[in-house]
Amino acid sequence: AGFSTAALLLTAASGGGVVAYADSSRPEEASGPPQQQDAPRKKKVVVLGTGWGGTSFLKNLDCSRYDVKVISPRNYFAFTPLLPSVTCGTVEARSIVEPIRKMFEKKKKDVSYYEAECFKIDATKKAVHCRSAVGTNLDGNGDFEVDYDYLVVALGATVNTFNTPGVMEHCYFLKEVEDAQKIRKSVLDCFEKASLPNISEEEKRKILHFVVIGGGPTGVEFTAELHDFLVEDLVKIYPAIQEFVKITIIQSGEHILNTFDERIATFAETKFQRDGIEVNTGFRVTKVADDSITVKSKSSGGEILVPYGMAVWSAGIGTRPVITDFMNQVGQAKRRVLATNEWLRVRECDGVYAIGDCASISQRKIMDDISSIFKVADKDNSGTVTLKEISDILEDICIRYPQVELYMKSMHMRGIADLIGSAVGDAHKESMVVDIEEFKKALSHVDSQVKTVPATAQVASQQGYYLADCFNKMDHCKEHPEGPLRLSRSGGDHHNFRPFRYKHLGQFAPLGGEQAAAELPGDWVSMGHSTQWLWYSVYASKQVSWRTRVLVVFDWTRRFIFGRDSSRI
Ligand code: FAD
Repeated sequence: AGFSTAALLLTAASGGGVVAYADSSRPEEASGPPQQQDAPRKKKVVVLGTGWGGTSFLKNLDCSRYDVKVISPRNYFAFTPLLPSVTCGTVEARSIVEPIRKMFEKKKKDVSYYEAECFKIDATKKAVHCRSAVGTNLDGNGDFEVDYDYLVVALGATVNTFNTPGVMEHCYFLKEVEDAQKIRKSVLDCFEKASLPNISEEEKRKILHFVVIGGGPTGVEFTAELHDFLVEDLVKIYPAIQEFVKITIIQSGEHILNTFDERIATFAETKFQRDGIEVNTGFRVTKVADDSITVKSKSSGGEILVPYGMAVWSAGIGTRPVITDFMNQVGQAKRRVLATNEWLRVRECDGVYAIGDCASISQRKIMDDISSIFKVADKDNSGTVTLKEISDILEDICIRYPQVELYMKSMHMRGIADLIGSAVGDAHKESMVVDIEEFKKALSHVDSQVKTVPATAQVASQQGYYLADCFNKMDHCKEHPEGPLRLSRSGGDHHNFRPFRYKHLGQFAPLGGEQAAAELPGDWVSMGHSTQWLWYSVYASKQVSWRTRVLVVFDWTRRFIFGRDSSRI
């Protein structure tokens, strides 16, 4: 109960959405050019990317206030959580995409879309350099420049091969809709190839060996889809070769689904073993050749050659070249993603915001802030603070860093959170003195344990929503600078907006055979057939339009009645 009180207290103090604050150092004043009263032109907002972050920002932005330009080589939004289902034809590719121009039909006079790729961000000139994705423009080279007052970078990530030789040449990836379509064709290719005459049994076994490298949610979901496709559809169509089919997952960690609750990881491993899927954990892929994969055991160091017919690489995400180039420009070289402050503005960079997979809130800043808050709390340099002060410190930290709040709810911190929770409202306990060093020791886990928010659609879309809300309220803040209380009591660095807070709504892992696992808010874990139905309803409801919702539900129904389509078109 104590912990709940503390959590409630922290949550209540941090609030939900974006609130205007009294101080005058607003994000736009620090980041944008001064408003010219005699030239009330709309400020130019350029959005790079039409994925989860970009579209969520655009959907929530009051586009009539700005001159909005959207640049992306993809003229559609893709519902990535259903990409694994596209690889096997459970849903069709067109059912999970929505054209960008259609999504912003109602805002079309305020939003321009260019189908192009940005290859350079010039933060000094406040311009982005782009190359048309649909051939050349009138000048003949297809390149053009777009200037901005505010830039929203939502470029996502690319695949990460960790420079493993042969991966780029021989593996399939599962990042884009085209990737899913390629996989679907390739699976069927393997079956047709293995059915040809004069193919030895050994050769058949190799061709029908499907290897998935990476046991994270994407790899696991694809494996489950592939297994369902094989046992529900393909074995009926190719009965003569079914005995040669094998699926293997190679995972470098100790467990698959290692970002999920342990119970889910164990459930998934047991289910896969029961289904005949080989789960090889503790192995790292060191090389991929056209007919074999070299795998190294992390414990013994020994290497094994694994013959395969098709391999899918889903072992991590990397940085897009345009982001690497930009990070070099703004003094963030050597990082994997752009570091932003809690208001999602790229650090030390005017008017540039970054959301989604290409950004993260700087970790170093968290620890610096925690230390500075302690210094402020210990006004008399006694090396001690009261429980009440600690409660306030935590409130401050959790408002700024949602990761810390998640961490506070974890087992490591439960004792201390209980202690603080029980003290709140009790004057005697509140005045109890605690040694700062002792408390810091308890918090020292934060450094190693608090991870930046994960690279998921949930985060990208919440960040897009939050940032649009800030943009919508900029004018209001100018007109009403007398907002409620300041956010920070650590001195300086005051803002008009509450920092971004990530609200984790849980995560799903479909495991095939009409079973799924889910981690839901409140440490609630659910697994089995009923969870699969929950998955169906959540994913149907999360579709971005009624058109895709109807198409996806229709595809599921078609699959239930007729099975998946195995034509290789
Ligand atoms: P993206 O959605 O990748 O969007 C990036 C955009 O930038 C795209 O429109 C792209 O075309 C555009 N772009 C790229 N390069 C350029 C350029 N040079 N110039 C201009 N535009 C460019 N997350 C979940 O929360 N739940 C799930 O179940 C889930 N399942 C997933 C399954 C799969 C198979 C995959 C691949 C991902 C899944 N994710 C899931 C993760 C989720 O898709 C990403 O975290 C999310 O897409 C990140 O959003 P984003 O806006 O940062 O990037």
